[in-house]
Amino acid sequence: MAEYLPEPFRIKIVEPIRLLDHEARENALREAGYNVFALKAEDVFVDMLTDSGTGAMSQFQWAAMMTGDESYAGARSYFRLAEAVNDIFGFKYWLPTHQGRAAEGILSTLLVKEGNYVPNNMHFDTTDANIRSRGGRPTNLVIDEAYDPDNLHPFKGNMDIEKLTAFIEEIGVENIPFGMMTVTNNAGGGQPVSMENMRAVADVYKSYKIPFFIDAARYAENAYFVKMREPGYEDKSPTEITRELFALADGMTMSAKKDAIVNIGGLLCMNDDELFQNARNELIMREGFPTYGGLAGRDLDAMAVGLREGLDEDYLKSRLGQTAYLNERLIEAGVPVIQPAGGHAVYIDAGALLPHIPHAEFPDQALAVELYREGGIRGVELGSVMFSYEDPDTGEMVYPDLELVRLAIPRRTYTQSHLDYIVKTVKKIVERADEIGGYKFTYAPKFLKHFTARFEPL
Ligand SMILES: *Cc1c(COP(=O)(O)O)cnc(C)c1O
Repeated sequence: MAEYLPEPFRIKIVEPIRLLDHEARENALREAGYNVFALKAEDVFVDMLTDSGTGAMSQFQWAAMMTGDESYAGARSYFRLAEAVNDIFGFKYWLPTHQGRAAEGILSTLLVKEGNYVPNNMHFDTTDANIRSRGGRPTNLVIDEAYDPDNLHPFKGNMDIEKLTAFIEEIGVENIPFGMMTVTNNAGGGQPVSMENMRAVADVYKSYKIPFFIDAARYAENAYFVKMREPGYEDKSPTEITRELFALADGMTMSAKKDAIVNIGGLLCMNDDELFQNARNELIMREGFPTYGGLAGRDLDAMAVGLREGLDEDYLKSRLGQTAYLNERLIEAGVPVIQPAGGHAVYIDAGALLPHIPHAEFPDQALAVELYREGGIRGVELGSVMFSYEDPDTGEMVYPDLELVRLAIPRRTYTQSHLDYIVKTVKKIVERADEIGGYKFTYAPKFLKHFTARFEPL
C-alpha cells in the first residue's frame, strides 16, 4: 500500500500556512503552557491535531449550503438530511445534534445512573467523560491484540466476546443501561471492527436485552476496511456494508465532523419509541428544535451531501492510502507506530520511543511538544494526560497501557509532501530521543484534562 491512489480531486481554493522559526515556536510553546491545544492555529504549520471538522468540503457541499433553509421548524434542509440518514443508517428515529458529544450527552443523561457500567470495545474520550460525569463507569473490552502495537490483526477494534459475556454476568444486566461499539476504534488507533464481530456483539447484547448503540463517527472508513479485509465483502459497496452493519444495532451516536466531512454536526438515532420522545425533549432543552438540533439549515445540507461523499470508494481508497503511506514511511524510519495503520490517523508509540519517561511524567505529552518544537507540527497525546483517572474505590491513579501520540489526517486537506515533511521531522526527534524529558501538570481540571491542562517541563 506504499503507493496510493492520487487524490481523486484537484485544489480549487487554497488556505496559506507558514512555518515559524525555531525561537518563535519555542515562545509559542511556553505561552501555551506546553499544551498544543493552547497554540494559535496560525502558529502551526501542519495541523494534525484532529481530523474532526477540519476536512475540506467539496464544491457540492458548498453549493448545498447556499440552498440551506433556515426556517425554525420543518425546514427543507431537515428533510434532505432525513433522506440521507434514513437511507444509510436505517433507524426508526433520528435527531440532529451540533456534535457527537451532544448526542452522547443526551443518551447518558437519559440512561446512565450512578454506579452503572457501559461496555464498549473502547470509549472515545468524550463518551468516557459523558458517562463518568453522570456517575457511570465506562468499560473497555476490546480484544487483547489492540494493546499490542505490533500485532497485525486485521480487525484490532473487535470486542472480546468472552470478556463481554463474563463482564455482563459479573456486573448484572440491571447495572448496564446500554452497550456500545465504536467503529472504527478511535481511542485504540482507528482500528476497524469486523462485521462478524459486530454480529457477535449484537447477539450478546440482544440475548441479555441490553440496548446496543454504535459510536458511528467513522462509519465509512470502517466499511471500507471490511470491504478490503473481510471475506465475503469484496464486491459490496461501502454503502451496502454500512447498511448491513447498522441494521445490527438499536441506535447510534455520531459526530458528523469525521466521515461525513462537515465542519460541524452530529446525529443521535434510535429505534425505541419512548427513548426517542425523551431524547427529543432533552434535545429541545440543550440543542434546539428537533428539525435543526443546534445546527443552521445550511449545516444540515452540507451533512446530507457529506454523508454520501464519505462513502465514495475512490475517496476512501485515497484516504486510507494516505494513512497507510505515512505509517509505512515512519516504520521505514524506525519509528514505533501502531500497526497496521488505522483509518484516520497514525499513532506513534511514545511509550516505546521515550521509555525513560514514566507514565506519571507523560511521555505522550513530551512527544507532542517535540513535534511542534522541531517542525511546527501539531499532533495530540492519547495517553496518560487524556486517559489517566483516579480510581473511585482506591483513590489511586490508573494509567492507560498505551502512551500514544496521534497524527490525525484531515480529509482532503494535505498532500503527500506534507506527509513526507512529517516523516523527516519525526526522524530528527528520534535521533535525540534520550535527551527528551517529561512534564508535570501546573493545572488540570477533573474531566477532559487534555483540552485545558497546563504543564511545566521536569
Ligand atoms: C470525534 C468523536 C466523538 C465526539 O464527537 P464530537 O463531534 O467531537 O463531539 C465521539 N466518538 C468518536 C469515535 C469520535 O471520533
